[in-house]
Formats: sequence, C-alpha cells, structure tokens
Amino acid sequence: MDVDPKKPSFQMQTCKIARITDENYRIKTFELSASIKAKPGQFIMIWIPGIGERPMSLGNAAPVKVTIANIGKFSGAMHALKQGDLISFRGPLGKPFNLPKTITQKSKILLVGGGYGVVPLAYLAREAKKRGIESIEIIGARKKEDVVHINKAEGTKVIITTDDGSEGVHGNAIDAVNALFTEGKQFDAVYSCGPEKMMRRLAEICIQKGIYCELSIERYMKCGINICGACAIDGKICCRDGPIFTVKEALRFDEFGKGWRDASGKKCDLH
Ligand SMILES: Cc1cc2nc3c(=O)[nH]c(=O)nc-3n(C[C@H](O)[C@H](O)[C@H](O)COP(=O)(O)OP(=O)(O)OC[C@H]3O[C@@H](n4cnc5c(N)ncnc54)[C@H](O)[C@@H]3O)c2cc1C
Repeated sequence: MDVDPKKPSFQMQTCKIARITDENYRIKTFELSASIKAKPGQFIMIWIPGIGERPMSLGNAAPVKVTIANIGKFSGAMHALKQGDLISFRGPLGKPFNLPKTITQKSKILLVGGGYGVVPLAYLAREAKKRGIESIEIIGARKKEDVVHINKAEGTKVIITTDDGSEGVHGNAIDAVNALFTEGKQFDAVYSCGPEKMMRRLAEICIQKGIYCELSIERYMKCGINICGACAIDGKICCRDGPIFTVKEALRFDEFGKGWRDASGKKCDLH
C-alpha cells in the first residue's frame, strides 16, 4: 500500500490513513502510510472522489503528515474519514522555504505562525535543527482553544499569543514580534505562514529592519501544477512560483494582505 517515492509528483498516488490526531476542536492531523521526498513549505493536493482536490501544506514528508482545519465541504469530508480509510494525493508541489547559505549553525531564525500555519513552520524548525540552527516560534491564536500545539523541534522556544489572553501572552503575533525586537533579540531570517494581514505587517517590519524573510502565501488552487492559472497573483503563479515568496516579492503583489480571487477568478476581500 505504501506509495512509490520515485513516482513523479504530479501523479496521483493512493495510500491508507495510518493515524488521525485531534489537535484542537476543529483541527486534525492525518498521518498517511506514505513517504515522499519533500521540504518544508511544499504542499500536496489531496483528492476525495466526488468532493474534489485541495492543497494542503506538508507537516512532514516521511511519513506524510497534513493538518487540516474543518471549515467547509472538503475539510469536513476529511474530518469524517477514519484510520485505515484510503486517500489519494499528488505531490510534493511548489517551492519550499529556503534556508540561505548565510544561515549557519550559529544562526537564529524566527518563525511566526497562525492557525494551521504553525504546521509547516514546525517542520521547518525540525529541519533547521538538523543543521544546528536555533528557532524561536511565535504561535498566534484568537483564544486558548484555537492554539495548535504541533510537535516542535526539540529545543525550539515557543511563544504563544492569544487575542483574549486566555493562553500565553495577551495580544497578537505581531505584538510578540515587536516585543522581541524591543528586547534587542536578533534574527538572521524570519519565516511565516498564517493570516495574510498578519504576514503583511510582518513583511513591513522585516523590510524596515533589513531582515531576510519568506512567507507562505495561499491562493485558490485548482491544478497545483501551473496549468489552469487559477492561483495567479500579479504575474506569478502561486502553485509554481510559490507558495513560498520572499517579502520583496510579496510586497510587489498589489493584492498581498488585501484581497484574493475566488474559484471563478472574481476579486474578493481577504477573509
Ligand atoms: C498552498 C496551500 C496550502 C494549504 N494548506 C492547508 C493546510 O495545511 N491545512 C488546511 O486546513 N488548509 C490548508 N489550505 C486551505 C485548503 O486547501 C482549503 O482551502 C480548505 O481546506 C477549505 O476547503 P473546504 O472545501 O473545506 O472549504 P470551502 O467551504 O470550499 O472553502 C472555504 C474557503 O477555503 C478556501 N478554498 C477553498 N478551496 C480552495 C482551494 N482549492 N485552494 C485554496 N483555497 C481554497 C476559500 O477561501 C474558501 O472560501 C491550504 C491552501 C493552500 C493554497
């Protein structure tokens, strides 16, 4: 049943769901009986026959793990699946986070995530740890119940912020970023995945401070392999050129942090 890691990433593969873990009241992690070669920041397209395909960030590659928030038709159908059920996917797809050569063993990186965005960042922290790179991860959530405590790299310092102060520091993730800089903390690079308005504010801080920063940007994806153009964003194709973009690229996108396009291509406000 295990999938063949040598198969091209655009070919659909089918495997069993090996394990399902509840992360909170609406987020579950699915471990598949499949291993692929991938890097943090890349995604897979998961297919449920009769429902459709959706992009999901990898939380791990060997074995494949994805963490899914139950918010609609597809994610609801995923949450109804059980251990041992069959699932199909294509991937890995897209560009991964990049740890530039200037990031060395002595480097320190800052990870800023919200919602299921903490998952690819925790994966990045584990890979960075293998290179001796130290990470601090800020996890932002509305309230205690929304916090995703995903398996972090051993030794990663985690700062939790909640809008209502029910867990960790009272405030949002950007308040925590500003507090670290006010304390005089220095970082060689910053990585983020989460709400786009938060990432836009982070991008502006990093540009102002001259810190290298990469962001994971989501757009409506249909094919995931640069055929349909549904995920076009100001001249770039998110599934091919992203989803990881540098802040310099992201800030060139007019719609970054402001709006996006729905399944029909219509411009919409960010939700
Ligand atoms: C690169 C990338 C990585 C993602 N990683 C994760 C992840 O790790 N975990 C997770 O829970 N979700 C992730 N998503 C979002 C996920 O693909 C779905 O959007 C989400 O599960 C909602 O789908 P639904 O059918 O349940 O809800 P629906 O009710 O159909 O949609 C709810 C909202 O989800 C968005 N959406 C729906 N379909 C798509 C699509 N094909 N592409 C992009 N956005 C869509 C739209 O904003 C829509 O309004 C990712 C999206 C992208 C682009």
